[in-house]
Amino acid sequence: MAQIDAPASAADLPSLDRLLREPAMAALLRCHGRQRVLKWLRTDLRHLRLRALEGRLSRSTLLTDAIVMRARQALQAQDRERLRAVYNLTGTILHSNLGRAPLPAAALEAVRMTMTCAVDLEFDLDAGRRGSREARACASLCELTGAEAATVVNNNAAAVLLLLNTLADGRQTIVSRGELVEIGGAFRIPDVMRSAGTRLVEVGTTNRTHPADFIDAIGPQTALLMQVHASNYAITGFTAAVDTRRLAALAHAHALPLAVDLGSGSLIDLAALGLPHEPTVEQTLRAGADLVTFSGDKLLGGPQAGLIVGRRELIARIDRNPLKRALRCDKMRLAALEAVLALYREPEFLAERLPVLRLLSRCDDAILAQARRLLPPIQAALTPDWNLDAVPMYSQTGSGAQPLERLPSAGLCIRHALGGRHGGDLKRLSARLRQLPRPVLGRIGDDALWLDLRTLEDADEAEFLAQWAHLAEDDGGCG
Ligand SMILES: *Cc1c(COP(=O)(O)O)cnc(C)c1O
Repeated sequence: MAQIDAPASAADLPSLDRLLREPAMAALLRCHGRQRVLKWLRTDLRHLRLRALEGRLSRSTLLTDAIVMRARQALQAQDRERLRAVYNLTGTILHSNLGRAPLPAAALEAVRMTMTCAVDLEFDLDAGRRGSREARACASLCELTGAEAATVVNNNAAAVLLLLNTLADGRQTIVSRGELVEIGGAFRIPDVMRSAGTRLVEVGTTNRTHPADFIDAIGPQTALLMQVHASNYAITGFTAAVDTRRLAALAHAHALPLAVDLGSGSLIDLAALGLPHEPTVEQTLRAGADLVTFSGDKLLGGPQAGLIVGRRELIARIDRNPLKRALRCDKMRLAALEAVLALYREPEFLAERLPVLRLLSRCDDAILAQARRLLPPIQAALTPDWNLDAVPMYSQTGSGAQPLERLPSAGLCIRHALGGRHGGDLKRLSARLRQLPRPVLGRIGDDALWLDLRTLEDADEAEFLAQWAHLAEDDGGCG
């Protein structure tokens, strides 16, 4: 052994040809093909040569079995680098880093079909000629919001960009200072305005904006008035804002359009489901907005998309903008969106069929009962270092929707058995949960790890529980 582990020199490296002929290599070549295996072996040999030159290469590293094993592991690791399903137990239901809204089964079916079959994406089957890819989704949007016309693009950021570029390129757009928000992921209203080619005119102050502020700012260069849903923050205290109805009247008195970026934009009154109120798209249009933009994958509960609804002639101009072609949605997204919008036609079933609303409207008593049910098996999987409790907690909608509202929820609270501060241990525990076959994501706060169970539906419980055994297996517990 001592001899085997003696340092190796670059001259001891095996040749590629010899390695490829090794019997142990046959299975890898069969599995992954010659090109991929060769590419990896070249990388590995280059790396080994460097180590040899530094005098840090041991002979055991050069054994064929060791080289084959490294190759197998490296190629398998590459294959694992894909999007993975995780359990979002962060308490944020529409989590932008975790893919926002889960889609209903009806949408999955529609997407699967477009992925495997030719579809009438831009083909009018009745007329036998070219049609519009968005026509079906837009017809539903008009029906559900009372809008004259609609259009669909890649996401809401694209919708705002396209709208501003179409209506206000080279001219001014007036926005209240209190609404110049940053949504996250580098979406800042002033930056979007600049990219769209419109000049931002800020009016009012951070906390108070009055109708006269807008009136004073309107001039020959003004193209548009815009209102932006503050989404992820709220100004409270001594505040004043001009509501949509007032602002629309004011815009129209000056022959200008009003655009409202609702961000989340719900299609139904959430209060009817016992949830916090959020202005609906229909209400915003009825209040006089000429155009309303909102996301497909926030409260709407569909795929990523940007939806623009409003006056027919304005939508027609937007559709003629060459940027529209660059921002259009693909067939999978449109299929999912159509399926989700179809569910809105039957609103009494919505809270059951649409995952986002089903999760948002889950009752906290039921979630607490679920937490109590899950506690014993999970406690058993943790080392005695950790104490587990089933406790009430609060979820939030996320993605900028209803930032101040907290939804009573419940879940598991994991604390160190010794009490006190154990930040490092908590971080390690949370890292271990991220290494489970389907990673579990919670949130750390107040010296505890919190797993909000609102987003774990009863049907997923068995699968969720099954994998906790891995925690004990891998390193004799965790912590
Ligand atoms: C979320 C949000 C956006 C961006 O929407 P995406 O669909 O994520 O592109 C724009 N404006 C507001 C007010 C938002 O809340």
